[in-house]
Amino acid sequence: MNKKEDRMDSIVALCKRRGFIFQGSEIYGGLAGTWDYGPFGVKLKKNIRNIWFRRFSDNRHDMYEVDAAILMNQKVWQASGHAAGFADPLVECKKCKKRFRADQVEKISAKDDGSGLTGNPTADTGTKSYWKCESCGTSNESNVRQFNMMFQTNVGAIQDDSSISYLRPETAQGMFVNFKNILDTQHPRLPFGMAQIGKAFRNEIAPRDFLFRSREFEQIEIEYFVKPSEWEKSFEYFRSEMKGFMSDVGLSASKVHELEVPEADRAHYSKRTIDFEYDFPFGKKELYGLAYRGDFDLKQHSDFSKVDLSYYDEETKERFIPHVIEPSFGLDRTVLAILCDAYTEDEMGGEKRVYLKLHPSVAPFKVAVFPLLRNKPELIKKAEEIFKTIQTEIPMTDYDDNGNIGKRYRRQDEIGTPLCVTVDFETIEKGNGVTVRDRDSGKQERVAEGELLKYLKRKIS
Ligand code: ATP
Repeated sequence: MNKKEDRMDSIVALCKRRGFIFQGSEIYGGLAGTWDYGPFGVKLKKNIRNIWFRRFSDNRHDMYEVDAAILMNQKVWQASGHAAGFADPLVECKKCKKRFRADQVEKISAKDDGSGLTGNPTADTGTKSYWKCESCGTSNESNVRQFNMMFQTNVGAIQDDSSISYLRPETAQGMFVNFKNILDTQHPRLPFGMAQIGKAFRNEIAPRDFLFRSREFEQIEIEYFVKPSEWEKSFEYFRSEMKGFMSDVGLSASKVHELEVPEADRAHYSKRTIDFEYDFPFGKKELYGLAYRGDFDLKQHSDFSKVDLSYYDEETKERFIPHVIEPSFGLDRTVLAILCDAYTEDEMGGEKRVYLKLHPSVAPFKVAVFPLLRNKPELIKKAEEIFKTIQTEIPMTDYDDNGNIGKRYRRQDEIGTPLCVTVDFETIEKGNGVTVRDRDSGKQERVAEGELLKYLKRKIS
């Protein structure tokens, strides 16, 4: 197997080669921290999204979906604390002028390079950081500055302070500001949740590691409102549901780790946070978060908007501000974890092979159908007929008659299609069924036409 960096390079190369993910604005040299999804990336992401919504919304009656605007009144971000405090510590190299996150640079000490600079890089503003530039190797002694990561813009034709707005850095606030709308229109009883998927934007100081840290990405978040005394039950419940989802999309449980975030590292309003970390090729890093946010958000928005965001409990005749459990998912980080998990190199028929061992639930195509040869009309006719039958029962079935059969298998392996059905001369001349090839083992079985649908469904279920 490749070295870790090579493995990431191989995954990025496969994504480009096969049409999963491309660099954003590539023909103009790219735009750092942006990625464009191609046909198979879109399908993979759509599958993940559908699985998520099935588990967390469609199959339950206590979840209310919203799709809030990305641009919001600037007061939202004052109330949430983002306008003042959504910042990362920044240092700048005195030589090459590149900028980095102060908590991610390599610290230096005198014995490292004889520069005489010692100390820890620290995240506090105004403190000094002693660090080595990863780009040009210069030893630096810098002041740490706080850099607000929100993309600022102006709404309307007049550009002054009152027209300032931001591209949202998270989807959560779109739910808190609609809490009263949900109460007034849906009349839910506690506990209930709001769920939202959408783009979030962060002007990350140093976007890196492919989709892991980008400047525009998709989040799926739940704000689950509970009675204050019942937060622990819901927290534990979502902890297990999040693991259930990871298993739904085929992530290896052995590569997912729970980190109980210590008090000192938690947001001040959070009484408990668990990060789900994943073993990416570049290290163990946060995939999702689960936080108990208390009543912080609704209280802040009540105070700032002067709108009452309390809940009236008909049974106990009490009025109070519900507490919040927040499971937070990065969709693109899920795509990346799935790709890292699935990327496999092996040898088949004496040749090196690359394939994506995707769980059928997320694979862009579940089945691909081929005629053995592309210049035999009778094979093509039969293959198209079988393709149409399968497609009506198994959505996301592909048809391919490009190149030779070996190339088609390689392509389907690389996009992670679990099963390939080939129509050959035995099919049409002897009525002897079709061959079905298994992606992982490369083994082929002959399956009677009448049994085919049942066989395929069993294999991909
Ligand atoms: P990190 O510490 O890695 O910056 P975070 O703790 O700031 O992440 P949250 O604010 O909790 O992240 O965001 C929720 C989820 O959104 C994360 O768990 C992650 O999956 C995703 N996410 C956050 N920032 C990015 C980013 N820059 N690129 C891609 N996904 C991201």
